Order: sequence, then structure tokens, then C-alpha cells
Amino acid sequence: MVRVGEFLYLIIVIAVVVVAIIAGLVTTTLRRRHPEAGPGPQETEVREEAPPPRAETQPTVEDTEMPVVTPAPTVERPEAPAGRLVRLRERLSRSQGALGRGLLALLSREQLDEETWEDIEDTLLTADVGVKPTQELVEHLRTRLRVEGAGASPREVLREELLNLVDPTMDRSIDVERRNGVPGVVLLVGVNGTGKTTTVGKLARVLVAEDKQVVLGAADTFRAAAAEQLATWGERVGAPAVRGPEGSDPASVAYEAVKHGVEREADVVLVDTAGRLQNKAGLMDELGKVKRVIEKQAPVTEVLLVLDATTGQNGMIQARVFREVVDVTGIVLTKLDGSAKGGIVVAVQRELGVPVKFVGLGEGPDDLAPFDPDTFVDALLGEST
Ligand code: GDP
Repeated sequence: MVRVGEFLYLIIVIAVVVVAIIAGLVTTTLRRRHPEAGPGPQETEVREEAPPPRAETQPTVEDTEMPVVTPAPTVERPEAPAGRLVRLRERLSRSQGALGRGLLALLSREQLDEETWEDIEDTLLTADVGVKPTQELVEHLRTRLRVEGAGASPREVLREELLNLVDPTMDRSIDVERRNGVPGVVLLVGVNGTGKTTTVGKLARVLVAEDKQVVLGAADTFRAAAAEQLATWGERVGAPAVRGPEGSDPASVAYEAVKHGVEREADVVLVDTAGRLQNKAGLMDELGKVKRVIEKQAPVTEVLLVLDATTGQNGMIQARVFREVVDVTGIVLTKLDGSAKGGIVVAVQRELGVPVKFVGLGEGPDDLAPFDPDTFVDALLGEST
């Protein structure tokens, strides 16, 4: 009896142990498959960790600590800017050559009658040269070809007159020098979609190629992807990007970017801005504030207006609005590779009284070139070599 009792007791103990082991195994498997299923102490902690509350009001300039994306030291070496337009000349000639070829064909007619001059005018207007510059050019061409007679080469005369129109005397350098212990500050303004953020990234590469220390400020806080896009551009060339949360105060980001540039002893800070054009007063307030808070630390040395060459007259309207809102010191004309209307170079310089300083000729990272009137006119005339 005692033996049977002991045996039964042993069986019960074994059964309890086996059940306990199986139960343990099942629970572990379930937790692994569905981590949220088991209310273990760790999961509760994680779930209880609520995201920080969103600020009700925009942070003020002085109390904001903006995250800085500091790139790893392995960086690309961008192409030197000097030879870029020569590399891109063929592209320019492909998109703009029709204008020069069209004009040359007309000027080479035996009889330069009124109808031909009207055709010349139409060709220039179609290429967005603008009414007044077109009239001037036609007048100069008429006078010179009449005075110089049969000995004049239409190609040479046209080349000279186009060059005068583009104005080789304008200063196209950008002021990006450190002065009085603070970096140069470049604001890039323009309507969204013109290629502004891309241009900030490309310009950083131009400056890095000239051995400048560059800091980027992602003050276009209204477009979700803009800050990310800028940080990526910066990472590739070792330029830190200062950015704020989406929808934060652009002036705060600009302030922090320049502060970072001052602390880091950078040569230049490039600040991307938001380009919403719904109303002029709003734009004026925003850009005015950005400029004011930057200038608590360092003067803004350049304001570059980014215009999309493919937008024609719309681009001119944008130029007028920005001219009233901020002191533009130079123009960046993007997407010239996708437009035959290179005459906008002339029109927009006339409208704003400031030079085109850079042209965008593609989506490649080094497809931004300092603008050179001679190379541009050669491309207009279809001379790509
Ligand atoms: P943002 O809204 O003004 O900041 O515009 P983005 O910088 O995001 O650029 C808008 C689009 O234009 C992008 O797809 C760019 O790659 C493109 N883009 C910018 N510059 C040029 C250029 O010079 N040529 C061409 N073909 N595309 C360009």
C-alpha cells in the first residue's frame, strides 16, 4: 500500500512539473509572436512612454535648441565650379541653340525687309527676351547691319549684340566671405517647386569645392521633405544641417543655423526658406523676420532669388513680388536644360537690376554652374565646342 501511495505521489509530482513546463513554453511562444499580447512590466513601460506634447505655440528664437545633423567625415569631392559651364555647354546649346540658329537664318536672308525684322522680333519674344530688350536688340542690329553693310558678318554682329544684352559688365560673384569673425550668410528665396532646396544643396557643393566650410539651415519648415533633403545634400559633402520640427518657426531655424555657423567658425551659412506665395504681406513678414533674427548675429551678405526658367512670364511675376519683399542681390535660374526660353536671363536681369549668378542645367549634384555671359551667348548661337 505504502509503495502504491508513493508511486501515485511521484506520478502526480511529475504530471505537475510537465504541465508547468508546457504552460511556460506556450506563454513564451505567444509573447514572441505577439509582443503586444503580454502585459509584461517592460511593455507597459514602453507603452506608457507617451510622445512629448507638441508645443501649442511656435518656439521663440532664443529658447530653441535645433538638432544639427553632423555628417560623418567620409565625404565626396564636388566638381570645381570653374569648368562646369564648359562641361554643360553642350546641354545649354541643345536647349538654347534654336534661338541663335533661328535668328541667324533670318539675318542671313538676302533681303532684310520689314517682314524679316518682324520675324526676328517674334523669335526673340518667343524666347522670353522681353519687349524692351527685344526692341533694343532689333534697333541695334538694323543700324549696324545697315552701316557696316555687306562686309559685316551677321553672326559676329549678332554675337556682340547678344552679349551686350546679357551684359558682361555685371558683377556675378557671390559674397560669401567671413567678416569681423562671422560667416557670410546667403538666403535663398523663391517659390516652392522652382528648385530652391536642390539649389542650396548644389551651391553647398560649389562652395565646398572652393574649400569653404559650409553650414546649412533648413528654414523651409513647411515642406515635410525639405529638411530631410537638405540634410542628405549636406551629408554628402560634410556640411552640417540645422533643422527644426516640421511647422516650426522658420526664423528660429535660421537663427540657430547662423549661431551654429558662428560657433563652428564656418565661412558661410546657406539658409533655405519657404516660398509660399499666397499673399505678399505674409511672405514679407516671414522673410523680414528671418532676415532680422539672422542679423542679430551676422549680416546677410547675399539674397539669391531662385527662378524656374521653364515658367516664363510666371517667373517674371514671381521676380516682381520678391523684389518688393526683399533686397535680391542675385538670381539663380534653374532648369535651363528643360527650356528653350533662355531669353529670360535678359528679361529678369532687366526687371530686377541684378545679375543672374548661377544657372541650373540638370538634376545631377554638380549641374549648377556660375553664369558666364560669353559661354551662354555661344550656346545661344549653337556653338557647343
Ligand atoms: P523647391 O520646392 O523649390 O525646394 O524645389 P526642389 O529643390 O525640391 O526641386 C524641385 C525639382 O526640380 C526636383 O525634382 C529637382 O531635381 C528639380 N530641379 C532643380 N533644379 C533643376 C535643374 O537645374 N534642372 C532640372 N532638370 N531639374 C531641376
